[in-house]
Amino acid sequence: MSGNDDRKTNIDGRQSKVQDAVDQGSGKEVQDEWENILNRLRAEVGETAFQSWLRPMRVHRVDADVVQISVPTRFMRDWAAAHYQDRLTELWHGENAAITGVEIVVHADVAQGRDASAAKMEPEAPSVVTGARERDTLSAPLDERFTFDQFVVGKSNEFAYAAARRIGEASTVPFNPLFLYGGVGLGKTHLMHAIAWHVREATPERSVLYLSAEKFMYRFIRALREQNTVDFKEQFRSVDVLMIDDVQFIAGKDSTQEEFFHTFNALVDQGRQIVISSDKSPSDLEGMEERLVSRLNCGLVADIHATTYELRLGILQSKAQNLGAMIPIKVLEFLAHKITSNVRELEGALNRVVAHAQLVGREISLETTQEVLHDLLRANDRRVTIEEIQKQVSSHFNIRISDMHSARRARSVARPRQVAMYLAKQLTTRSLPEIGRKFGGRDHTTVMHAVRKVDELREHDTSFKEDVELLRRMLEG
Ligand code: ADP
Ligand code: MG
Repeated sequence: MSGNDDRKTNIDGRQSKVQDAVDQGSGKEVQDEWENILNRLRAEVGETAFQSWLRPMRVHRVDADVVQISVPTRFMRDWAAAHYQDRLTELWHGENAAITGVEIVVHADVAQGRDASAAKMEPEAPSVVTGARERDTLSAPLDERFTFDQFVVGKSNEFAYAAARRIGEASTVPFNPLFLYGGVGLGKTHLMHAIAWHVREATPERSVLYLSAEKFMYRFIRALREQNTVDFKEQFRSVDVLMIDDVQFIAGKDSTQEEFFHTFNALVDQGRQIVISSDKSPSDLEGMEERLVSRLNCGLVADIHATTYELRLGILQSKAQNLGAMIPIKVLEFLAHKITSNVRELEGALNRVVAHAQLVGREISLETTQEVLHDLLRANDRRVTIEEIQKQVSSHFNIRISDMHSARRARSVARPRQVAMYLAKQLTTRSLPEIGRKFGGRDHTTVMHAVRKVDELREHDTSFKEDVELLRRMLEG
């Protein structure tokens, strides 16, 4: 153990640029930028993923417009490159416009630096013992706030909620698996924890194992490395309720998928309950093996939709009450109106408003709210453009983008064009005539007709409806 601070370590026998930069006094800026980025990502990905993947990263060097980030192992590099590279680049560019690329490299010294323990990666998170059998080395911790009581039910999530409750309360397996899916921050993890809490309280003799797919994979790989797969299998295959969160993470990871598939089958055969969450429906999980997709589809698939205004308001009221904060209804309405992305952001906004008021000792008003949240509100104001819609829709239906403007009336291009007009109406604040102009100078009545047509088709054709929903989500995403 060298005990070196990695920033001061010689890299490849040369001084790193970061070190040069530190000597010149600008290394501090690089580190500050990095800290800001890490803080942002921590909020975005959550504590567990942060500790596993981002914490061990170090700024390795800065070459003109490219930042190199180092991680201790190749495995981490591949993972980080697949999942975080684009976002890191984006964030770094936002911090410092001169940076246009982020590279992730392997650098063994990272693991020997001052954060050796973090760099070796987390997985021994404190955990919950569920049931009589010890699961504490396996199950991830459960969030105390994520209970059924604390979950506000509305139109968009009532089905998923009912399914989750059913599993929590059932003593046998009502359907297998329960597959929960929906966009980020809409309550999938909350519902899974709620099931775990409930089972734990109602039937303490049953063992519940909850963990992310990411962690499942990490453990599997570690078991392979340590030639310990028998124990691994044994641990997983002896639980009563297995819950795997964010299963999209293992799409494309063949050997992990394979292992998961066998675990899954073994548990189903023994009549044990499985609950899975994902950001996509089973069939939309690219890189997922066909036989696994069909098993996932076998049970009950419950979609959590985007929040409605009523649900957002309900959630805000419930959270405000929990915080014991006096918040004028006008402010809650304003937030429910403005922050539409997801519940996590909504909650974050409310917390900020309350924290600010407590800190400065002022009452919460519409003005202070706008002041405190001005950056967030601006970000939420960012609307999708018509050009983005046209591009996405053309590529989805495999037509040329020029067909969005062309006079061609063949159904194969006319229908996608109508979908694009419909989405333009839904997702932008443009008026019908403005939209018409962007589609090759069409009349506003054409746009109106398109909107009606798509609405009508959505009602009668579920696969069409799903297509439109998918596009909407991608555009809003
Ligand atoms: P996901 O796993 O779908 O990304 P989470 O379950 O982590 O989302 O939810 C994000 C945050 O929003 C959590 O703090 C959760 O408690 C909260 N949340 C989501 N949906 C609801 C709801 N219907 N009622 C109350 N809180 C909710
Ligand atoms: Mg989640």
